[in-house]
Parts: sequence; C-alpha cells; structure tokens
Amino acid sequence: MKETQQAASVYQNVCRQFDKAADLIDFDPEIRKILGKTQNEVIVNFPVIMDDGHIEILTGYRVQHNNVLGPYKGGLRYHPAVDIDEVRALATWMTWKSAIVNIPFGGAKGGIQVDPSKYSHSELQRITRRFTFALGCNIGPEFDIPAPDVNTNAQIMAWILDTYVSTQPPHSRQANVHIVTGKPVESGGSLGRDKATGQGVVYTIEQWANDRKFDLNGATYFVQGFGNVGSWTSILLKPYGAKLVAVEDICGAYEDPNGIDPDELNEYFKEKHTLDGFKNLKKIDHEKFLNTKADIFVPAALENQVTSETASLLNVRVVAEGANGPTDLDGDEILQQKKIDMIPDIICNAGGVIVSYFEWLQNKRSEFWDLEEVDRKLHRLIVGGYERVRAAAKEYKTDWRTAAYIVALARLEKVYKERGIFP
Ligand code: GLU
Repeated sequence: MKETQQAASVYQNVCRQFDKAADLIDFDPEIRKILGKTQNEVIVNFPVIMDDGHIEILTGYRVQHNNVLGPYKGGLRYHPAVDIDEVRALATWMTWKSAIVNIPFGGAKGGIQVDPSKYSHSELQRITRRFTFALGCNIGPEFDIPAPDVNTNAQIMAWILDTYVSTQPPHSRQANVHIVTGKPVESGGSLGRDKATGQGVVYTIEQWANDRKFDLNGATYFVQGFGNVGSWTSILLKPYGAKLVAVEDICGAYEDPNGIDPDELNEYFKEKHTLDGFKNLKKIDHEKFLNTKADIFVPAALENQVTSETASLLNVRVVAEGANGPTDLDGDEILQQKKIDMIPDIICNAGGVIVSYFEWLQNKRSEFWDLEEVDRKLHRLIVGGYERVRAAAKEYKTDWRTAAYIVALARLEKVYKERGIFP
C-alpha cells in the first residue's frame, strides 16, 4: 500500500473538510477560530536504552485539539510517518468523532515516530514506559486518556497504565486505572474493546445496507489493512454472508475471487505476520487491488489512500472508512461523481472510542459489563450518530462527510455559545 508521501497534506485535508462544512452552515466565525486550531501540542524527545546498551533518542507527540465536551481522548500510534502534522489531523478528527456519537470526550492523538518492527519486545516496553514518563502530567485519567491506534495494542496500554500509576502516590494508584483505555481485560479493560472499531464499522455497513435495501448475504468486499480494524471488520462481516475477495497490507495486495475465510486468514497472519503464502491468495498490484469489482471497500490502514490519483479506480457501491482520513477532498469529489456512497471515518470508525468510553466508565464505577451489554450500547450510540449524519445530509443536501462535520460542529457551537469564553 502507498504510504503518505507528504504528511503535511493530512492536516490541510482536515482544514479543508472543516471549512467546507462551516461555510455551508454559516458557522459562528469566532468559534470557527477556536476549532480551527489545536489547543495544546506536546513534543518530547526522550532517551531509551536498547538491548545492546546503546541509547536512542526518540520523538513522541501528544496533540490536544479540544476539550469543551470532556477530557481529551484519542489513540497513540507507533509509525515512522508520525509527525506533528499528522497528529494534529488525527487529534482534530477525534473531537468531531466524539461529538457526533454524543460521548463526553474531546479530541487528542499522539504517537512516536518509530518503526516498532525494528525493536525487541523489551525495547518496545522501555520505549513505551519512557514515553509515558516523558509525557508526565500532560496525560491523566480525567484530563487526557490515550488508547491503541496503528501498531499499538492492549499490551502497550498495560505498560502505560503500569508506568503512570507507579509514578502516582500509593494511595491514588488504584484510582487512576482509567488513564488508558484498550487495556487487556484482566488489567481493567472492557470486553468488546478489542473488536470495537471493526464492530462499529460493521454496524454502520449494516445500516447503510438497510437504507439501500441491499442484501449483505452474498455481497462482496475488500479490505485495505489487516490490523485490528481490517481483521475484525472481516471476521464480523462473515456471519452476514458477505465475501472477502481481496486484501492488502504493508507487504502487498492479494485476491481470491472465490472468497477468503477471514478467521483462517487472521490465524495465519497472527502466526506469520504476512498475508503472503495463504491458501489460494494471488498477488496483485496496488492499482488492480483498488480496481477490484465488489460491493464494499473498507480502507482500514493509513491516510490519503483514495485521492485524485486513485479514486477513479474504485468500482464499488460504498466506501466504509475504517481508517482515519483514508480519502482526501479530491478523492471525495471523484467518488461523488461516480455515485459511490461514503460512510465517513468520523462516524464509521467511532466504535473504538465509544467502547473506550464504556471502559472508562466501568473503571470509574468499578463495574464489569458483559459483552452483550457493551455491544448493545455500542450499537445504540453508533447508529444514533449514523442517523444524525444521514438526517444532516438530507437537510443540507450535501455529501455524507460534510454532513458528519455539520453534526459535530452544531454540537460544539451550541456548547461554546452556552458557556461563552473565559474571562
Ligand atoms: N485510535 C482509535 C481512533 O482513532 C480509538 C481512540 C480511543 O479509543 O480513544 O478512534
């Protein structure tokens, strides 16, 4: 898959999306100034001892876009393309996401500019712990709550939790377990959090299919990225009778028009860390992959994949954005011309942060919810968001991405007007 060449364009993309929606609804110009900037940006350069004894200086980020609706919230990613521009964009998208699904969080994002595959398990642990220490009180369970994102997982959250609480006075350690979400269940995580983003993607696809009176049984789809979001989306679409026909990851693109079993592929991928060599998969090039004839395309990898250069290749009914920012504005325009439906990222992939909210609540109340309760509440919140976006698209006669922004901006504008600006 093509990685972002010019990360600078990612944040510009967010600003363009924001401007388009704000223009359409005559958004308050003063509040526009506030939301057009991130509130806080922390960059830390920190030393880590490697297994052979030498020291590496790594660069980490945490950007807090807005907290008018609640504590800053968003994931941490470990990737060589992480930089201030990308993190700004991702933090801003988190503000819109929580606003759309009506959860009391603001937006933040962070990460380390690093290729985690180059480090041992113990090096990754020291990197994570030292990064947490470097962030210090810039994160906090009632202030800014990290979670997993690209190349981070429950284990990394457990290390962050352990490091954070170990630096608190003994009597307050237990009261700080909600410093991160997406923890392992045994360490205070929630059932259903691991699959939550994929589950949310599937719930929104199901809503779209209901709207279009489209039968998912026998439908075909393809997925870009087979990490947490791509693999769970595929596994959870299987019971609907939908057929996975192509998949792409960092090593290449593959197809099997007869259908790929997502459970088996997931087992294989977990063991081999590659899709290559699985059963009847045939390697294809990136262009042929994007050109796959199917009903649904789920981009579940990085930003800027569907652009002026690639959007015309798509041959599907709907794009369901599991990733953050996979389509830029030019890509959006081409999809609209081609009459391809769009379930935009800030509603499509909101399942992760929704179940993060449930985990945070369970920690605060010392509760443990069963999976049925988590899934039922997730369904209610994400479908509620989806319906608000659909209603805004109708009311403003606009595309779904702009409609999603309108829902978020309307909520934020209302709160700013009620509260006013201090002093
Ligand atoms: N990283 C996920 C996202 O982009 C989840 C964030 C969270 O749970 O805080 O939505």
